[in-house]
Amino acid sequence: MPALKVLILGGTTEAAALATELIARHGERVDVVSSFAGRVEGLKPPPGRIRIGGFGGTAGLAAYLAEERIDAVVDATHPFAAQMSRNAREAAALAGVPRLLFWRVPWPRHPLDRWIEVDSIEAAAQALVHLGRRVWLTVGASELAPFAAVSDRWYLVRVIEAKAPLPLPDCMVIEARGPFRLENERALIRHHRIEAMVSKASGGRATYAKIEAAREADLPVVMVRRPLPEPGERVAEVGGAADWVSSRL
Ligand code: NAP
Repeated sequence: MPALKVLILGGTTEAAALATELIARHGERVDVVSSFAGRVEGLKPPPGRIRIGGFGGTAGLAAYLAEERIDAVVDATHPFAAQMSRNAREAAALAGVPRLLFWRVPWPRHPLDRWIEVDSIEAAAQALVHLGRRVWLTVGASELAPFAAVSDRWYLVRVIEAKAPLPLPDCMVIEARGPFRLENERALIRHHRIEAMVSKASGGRATYAKIEAAREADLPVVMVRRPLPEPGERVAEVGGAADWVSSRL
């Protein structure tokens, strides 16, 4: 019988790394369940058990935590998955289950970065009006619609999985999953003669190379600010999250 049952709310590199780390540290003493929203089809499952699909809001998650007798929850969702994070905090409080937020360190702004910071994807599309014609969009596949309004641009779109048809009249799609290397990002910028980039302020190492490559090429980057993190206990390293879980064994 496992001594501890942990729910990891995932969909990120760090969530998968945490599942791997916990099983490496404790083997069958921990029952690790990784949860995914189910947006991506070609999912690379982490070790342990997985479950896929929404819980049905805060109440649904609170019921799941009680029914499954979950001992601890780690919210390791993406910094922009604000709804899930809020639900996790509220549901854990309702069910009386300890919860930890894995909070990615934001990217620092380098003095040579030419960021135009905005609060939403819609504002990012508006900001493009003043920038170059060839734009590299590195936002999610489901967030492209606002860019259709800025139609006199050519877009390079990099997504994990393309949801066809894309709402953009003039674009090229690359399907790829990070981590990405600096050489790769430099080559994309050069080859496609990119004049501006759009990115979410996701933080983390896996996708930082594009920010470095944009800086080197002196490109403006329209940077969508993060939502504020949910309050409560948080860590910024996978090892710290593994320590938090381990301390409950
Ligand atoms: P969101 O807007 O915060 O969540 C919307 C709803 O999707 C939630 O209320 C929940 O449905 C369900 N959901 C989200 N994450 C889930 C999870 N890990 N397990 C089970 N259900 C989940 O989330 P999102 O921004 O669409 O992100 C969805 C997933 O993609 C997350 O796992 C996130 O870590 C990952 N991801 C997001 C981004 C991004 O930029 N947003 C980038 C990379 C990866 P119910 O209310 O029915 O429970």
